[in-house]
Amino acid sequence: MKNAPTLRDDVHDGDVLRWARDMLDKSSSPRMMLQAVDEAVMRNELWRGQQCVNLLAPESPTSPLVRKLLSAEVGTRAAEGHIGPQQRWFTGTRYIDEIEALCIELLKRVFRTHYADHRLIASMLGNLAVYAAFTEPGDTIMSLSQPFGGHSSNRSDGPAGVRGLTIYDVPMDAQELTVDLEAFILLARKVQPKLVVLGASMTLFPFPLKAMAEIVSEWGGRIIFDGAHQLGLIAGGQFQDPLREGACVLTGSAGKTFSGPQSGIIVWDDPSLTPAISHAIFPTLVATHQVNRVAALAAAAAEFLAFGPEYMAQIVRNAQILGQALHDRGFTVLGAHKGFTQTHQVVLDVRQLGGGYEAAMHLADANIITNKNLIPGDRPEDWDFPSGLRLGTTEVTRLGMRDAEMTEIADLTAAVLLERQPIDQVRSRVIALRAGFQTLHYCFQR
Ligand SMILES: *Cc1c(COP(=O)(O)O)cnc(C)c1O
Repeated sequence: MKNAPTLRDDVHDGDVLRWARDMLDKSSSPRMMLQAVDEAVMRNELWRGQQCVNLLAPESPTSPLVRKLLSAEVGTRAAEGHIGPQQRWFTGTRYIDEIEALCIELLKRVFRTHYADHRLIASMLGNLAVYAAFTEPGDTIMSLSQPFGGHSSNRSDGPAGVRGLTIYDVPMDAQELTVDLEAFILLARKVQPKLVVLGASMTLFPFPLKAMAEIVSEWGGRIIFDGAHQLGLIAGGQFQDPLREGACVLTGSAGKTFSGPQSGIIVWDDPSLTPAISHAIFPTLVATHQVNRVAALAAAAAEFLAFGPEYMAQIVRNAQILGQALHDRGFTVLGAHKGFTQTHQVVLDVRQLGGGYEAAMHLADANIITNKNLIPGDRPEDWDFPSGLRLGTTEVTRLGMRDAEMTEIADLTAAVLLERQPIDQVRSRVIALRAGFQTLHYCFQR
């Protein structure tokens, strides 16, 4: 393998793979190879964990107790199946049953639902479980296109496509950044989708869910809410509550605003849905479902009961302050006429500033971590070089930042993108800001 050329059609960056090959070639033993891995982890921990202002909307820092449980002994145990001795393949699961039952019951309390499942290792799989449970290949669904925040899991290039579904776009209003209800009613009555999937990776404002649920009920259709991003905000009462407004299932990522270990959650209320959902989870999509992660998820749910509502309210407040401060400094902030945001996200139109890719790379040079994002007006195929930039306030909020720091982050962002100040100088200011915020809040300390 020494100095092997980059393989044709490899999707990964050839330079980085070459770096890794060189690193391994230079290592005189497997132990040194292991050390190379460990050192990369430590470099990340120092940089992203201590010196960056992380504004990636899908991230949140997990609490010390959640991190401790992620490396627990129970993570080496196998526990396929449902809770209880007869429903497992394996014996020895007595305490694992307890951990999983505690997790389910905690999730039910946090989301105020009758049913919850804890076994999905990613929300991508949660969405696939929904499609497996409620559709047949060839069925029609409606979901949001990517420029309006739609996620591949509900599009032709993700689980919905794998299931062989015919997908129509939910019509959106580019000004109001929400569903164009009149256009939706016309199209939905025409194509009569079995499922309408709401929720998106880029979400600033709630959806007119009640009105949409009434429409789809005309032909027995269902609304599914993919709350990957908003899961914490929903549980904390800071966003619309999809199950109370007519959605029948809520899926979401535990590692986004919910601030637990990265994984998927499904919650629902209607008992008649339980057999189909449960079967889609096991034996269809998960077997060994990482019980260490389940324990960590249970701990995150308990912390959410204690701190979630206050934490989530501060996240949204910080996002609104950040949006206003960026607007005041001359950025084009989406949704300015509606108060910028009702979630953890702020979205900028940076097409005059070199586009989302350039802007995100410049900011990362200054230790401000964001992501390029498609925005209304982009085409779905503009994915690599979209016009938008997405910021999220989950992590900075958990680190204890508030109004004054949001204003400072807006200043630093302007210094990079509007004033083009020397990157080294801005980076020093970012490191200094972050140095004062190294403790996680809204969690038990030990
Ligand atoms: C992030 C995201 C997902 C995927 O969640 P994972 O837990 O990362 O698998 C699904 N849907 C939407 C809308 C998302 O933003």
